[in-house]
Amino acid sequence: MAASCRLKPLSRVAVSGGTHGNEMSGIYLAKHWLRDPMELRRGSFAVTPFLGNPRAIEKCERYVGQDLNHTFTTELLSSAEAEDEPYEVGRAREINQTYGPKGSAQAFDFMFDLHNTTANMGACLIVDSEESLLPMHMCHYIQTHYKWSPCRIYLYKLPGEETYSIDSVAKAGLALELGPQPQRVVRADLFAQMRALMACALDFIELFNKGTVFPAFEIEAYKITGRMDYPRYPNGEISAMVHPKLQVGVGWE
Ligand SMILES: [Zn+2]
Repeated sequence: MAASCRLKPLSRVAVSGGTHGNEMSGIYLAKHWLRDPMELRRGSFAVTPFLGNPRAIEKCERYVGQDLNHTFTTELLSSAEAEDEPYEVGRAREINQTYGPKGSAQAFDFMFDLHNTTANMGACLIVDSEESLLPMHMCHYIQTHYKWSPCRIYLYKLPGEETYSIDSVAKAGLALELGPQPQRVVRADLFAQMRALMACALDFIELFNKGTVFPAFEIEAYKITGRMDYPRYPNGEISAMVHPKLQVGVGWE
């Protein structure tokens, strides 16, 4: 990131809660913001909140037909409506119509996507790749200003793979993953942390829109380098478990 460049201010920003219908911090926050969007406003922009997967939220399940967050490929978004298609494919088209279309000039400038994990990992900031300049600067800003838990960065896109997540319909995006929280449970402490993470991210956008210069930086980020299965018995049954030293979590209570 040595070269300097000037990006346009962000005016159309959206946030999805409940892309997975059993991850409660984002669902409760989005419902709160839909009633009272004041805290999503800054001087230069305002954020539009929405519920990602309303049917899954109603049932308090991750999804009803298929995982919504893997449904935003160009192939699925441009497929013809079919009677027997999963609910999420139609919902993805709706979201693409409202906040995209993906890859077009009309698409929203930025989308946040709020998730919880059962893993004891604190906050994780998920970006497609390190080439996404604005989200990477946002991650750097959040890491510097947010102190409640570690904020690791995960780059999810494999080389040559197409983006498929909900925030890929906007021009840029960031997913916030916060844990540990059991599915279907609202923990007030994690609710407050997610709210604070969002406030921090919006502060960054406001500074960016006002012309603040963000210098180049070095940053640590995680990528998938391979998958490792559990050891198994000859009949395929798992023969091991995660070591308690790894299960305890990574540096915070
Ligand atoms: Zn999720």
